[in-house]
Amino acid sequence: MISLDTLRADGIASNPIKLYPHEYKTKTKLVKTALDELISKSFFFNNVISSASYTAASHASYFTGLWPKNNGIYDHFNSKLHATTIFEHAKQNGYKTVFKTDFPLILGSYLNLINGVDDYLVEDDQSGLDLLKKEDKVMSFFHFGQVHYPYGFHNLKYGGQDYKDKVIELENKYKLTVEQVNLRDVATETYRDEADIQWLYRYKKIVTYLYKNRKDNELFDLYLQGINYFHQHKFNLFLEKLLESLKGSNYLIVIFSDHGEAWSDDSFGHFNTLDEGVIRVPIILHASDIKPSFYSNRIRTVDLAPTLQEILFGESTTPKFDGSSLSDIIYSHKTEDDRDAFALCWATRMGEIVNNVKNVNNGEANAPNIEKSVNFSACGYYKNFKCVHNYQKFIDRGSVLVKLNTSDVFDMTDLSLPKRVENQDVKDKLSKPIDDFNDIKQVFNESTDSLREYFKLQGYNV
Ligand SMILES: [Zn+2]
Repeated sequence: MISLDTLRADGIASNPIKLYPHEYKTKTKLVKTALDELISKSFFFNNVISSASYTAASHASYFTGLWPKNNGIYDHFNSKLHATTIFEHAKQNGYKTVFKTDFPLILGSYLNLINGVDDYLVEDDQSGLDLLKKEDKVMSFFHFGQVHYPYGFHNLKYGGQDYKDKVIELENKYKLTVEQVNLRDVATETYRDEADIQWLYRYKKIVTYLYKNRKDNELFDLYLQGINYFHQHKFNLFLEKLLESLKGSNYLIVIFSDHGEAWSDDSFGHFNTLDEGVIRVPIILHASDIKPSFYSNRIRTVDLAPTLQEILFGESTTPKFDGSSLSDIIYSHKTEDDRDAFALCWATRMGEIVNNVKNVNNGEANAPNIEKSVNFSACGYYKNFKCVHNYQKFIDRGSVLVKLNTSDVFDMTDLSLPKRVENQDVKDKLSKPIDDFNDIKQVFNESTDSLREYFKLQGYNV
């Protein structure tokens, strides 16, 4: 399994269904890559709905085949997994398991996401590839963080001088000055040293400036440039090495993404949104016995684990999954109706939490008031409609959070161009299923411990 973090389904050049040309005025063209070459020989699901718009919750659904409320992870870095992972199933079936990640804080032991993993690697692709060669029967997972911002670069080790040059070019272009690092901006996805934090802070400052000034087209252009950079400097070579090392063996490659990226009044990247470009992700399967095809009827990320369970372990897929196997679609080219899908977004008030930490560090408060996550929005898909229920909403570009209880309905008949429509029947039909999907009981102690752990790992004493 390969996870390309933050890659929209239409962030793939050879995906014919593209939302973003209708949403942004962009200058950057996606270049054809080794991934596109592989897709021409693979089964490509290009209309997959992710269970959540952020990394941990999305991966939890891939690894368990369960909706967030049934696997335990529903928010950003807070709730923990309490379900069996695909790695545990693999181990029971005699596989060695390998897990390589670029975001060890989020995709690691803290949230129980690596239960069943034998070898855990951070930012080390080569050791992962070596283990693939060494082991007879292995299930491996490679996570790549470069498509996430800082777009294309991930950190100084990977981005190097190109990363610095880009930051300086953008600071000059927008006349931004370099200031001292603000604590609020240093909560990151991986371990970073001081220099890395400084450059990330400068990049985030550019992103914040562009967002506040409604320069969504520029932000999206940076995102597309990051995708091209990632393939050119990292992933083309990785795929070449992977295919070389798999030569002569019996293998299945699955490539997917956890969520996409979008910049608009309702979307600051991906954490606070169920924008279609954020929750529509790709899944690609490649093996010698899989015939190449595109499949655009809707499926869900929870469908992958039961599919792998059936293909790899030959086990019946129900009732332990919320998803169901795709093997008839992949191997018998059966066409199904769109599957009913759901996605959620909970907001963890990171800004407030970090401010609390800052106050404590400055001796301004006795104890941090770590809050639970906030039910933000959830959506459901039924036939050719999508209904987004907004429990709360950020207005004025993220500066104010207001309570709402409204629903928006979209007609998805043209997958490239969702149309906002008035349709009370769809709202009524999906109201209960959406509430059921999002019916999550929070455990306060667990949340608090997990957030404390997160900030301790960032070097804060909370
Ligand atoms: Zn992610």
